[in-house]
Amino acid sequence: MLQHTRDKWALASQSSLPKCRTPFLAMKRAPRISFVSLGCPKALVDSERIITRLRAEGYELAREHAGADLAIVNTCGFLDSAQAESLAAIGTAMAENGKVIVTGCMGAEPEKITAAHPGVLAVTGPQQYESVVHAVHRAAPPQHDPFADLIPPEGIKLTPRHYAYLKISEGCNNRCSFCIIPRLRGDLVSRSAADVLREAERLVAAGVKELLIISQDTSAYGLDLKYASSPWQGRQVRARFLDLARELGEFGVWVRLHYVYPYPHVDEVIPLMADGKVLPYLDVPFQHASPDVLKRMRRPAAQERTLERTRRWRELCPSLTIRSTFIVGFPGETEADFALLLDWLTEAELDRVGCFRYEAVAGAAANDLGSLIPEAIKEDRWNRLMAHQQAISRKRLKRKVGHNERVIIDQIGPLPGLDPKIAKGRTKGDAPQIDGTVFVTSRRPLRVGEIATVKIERAGDYDLYATAVGY
Ligand code: SF4
Repeated sequence: MLQHTRDKWALASQSSLPKCRTPFLAMKRAPRISFVSLGCPKALVDSERIITRLRAEGYELAREHAGADLAIVNTCGFLDSAQAESLAAIGTAMAENGKVIVTGCMGAEPEKITAAHPGVLAVTGPQQYESVVHAVHRAAPPQHDPFADLIPPEGIKLTPRHYAYLKISEGCNNRCSFCIIPRLRGDLVSRSAADVLREAERLVAAGVKELLIISQDTSAYGLDLKYASSPWQGRQVRARFLDLARELGEFGVWVRLHYVYPYPHVDEVIPLMADGKVLPYLDVPFQHASPDVLKRMRRPAAQERTLERTRRWRELCPSLTIRSTFIVGFPGETEADFALLLDWLTEAELDRVGCFRYEAVAGAAANDLGSLIPEAIKEDRWNRLMAHQQAISRKRLKRKVGHNERVIIDQIGPLPGLDPKIAKGRTKGDAPQIDGTVFVTSRRPLRVGEIATVKIERAGDYDLYATAVGY
């Protein structure tokens, strides 16, 4: 009888899904889960995988903790301040729901979580998707229905439809002294090239216009696999940074490379940028310029001549945007080290720079270095670096005024304080969330995800102002 009912529903669903769906679901309400995702884009991809799996099993997402069957908190443990934020988010979920599963980087140190919140149902570590799902099954058993539980083939995305993060590896072989990620996430484990390309294909088919390639160290991709080949569209593709970038460039969408270190082999990818196959954009976390500080940080590629390298990259691809992050106030950083960093920034003329004041992380090797820098000096150096770089960024942005740029539209009006006809977009030199914005005036309404040609009219310190001239 049940089988009969289901067959009837399945047939009916092909022509009139909304009418038939409601009474069917009323018979078996799917468990509802609230989800908090903290931390970096790599953690966001973990959240997407967990949610994709749960949605495939018929779970529904709740907007609020209150009223959900349980809550999941994907934590960040990178810095002590991030751990404090994670513990606060767990506390909120406990107060508003009471049934909480914790996962993510901080899950590698479960005792910290259970000490603060002894009532959590389960704590699992980063990338332990199976453990999270098992814990969910125990707390709120799935009400699986193969007809109702269809999910899009690209999985569930937490980003807007037109861009997606694509994680090509997990873990890291480096041992930077300020970082505990390798302890939390383990050594480098790369996906095969075919696996990455299949996911890219699904994303593009679903309407994604921009792929953001992420990992802990993108330039190390494939090292653990000894660059083994895998079959893709009738040919073999090596798990190698250049080969993967070249294949991703064939999809005809924007491909943006994040977390690339200045190793010599990165030079090979610059011609792909000059040819328009991959976006002329490199996110290179230099962190410092002083050889002494870099040595104490144990940074990868610290020996490389980074100024020469960046100059060469720009010769090969003049439109290249280089983004980076830096840490000031690292233990033992002298005024001379800091002055060297400012001089280096003057020479390098990076387009976009983020800066962090050094923060000790429990368990990091840098804690044993001593020579801690007082907070007031860190603050002073941070302010000086930001002011120094602001002038450089402004100068770089000004060069774009009067030129045409392709811009991907992220948001359309009404934007607070702006004309409702103005849209927010990004050039090829701007990654979402971390770089600048282009405010675009258009005579016809733009659509989110559309890539328009705009003329840059004006530059601010970080943002650009433009008029659409081509669609
Ligand atoms: S490269 Fe360094 S900072 Fe980045 S994840 Fe690896 S160890 Fe941490």
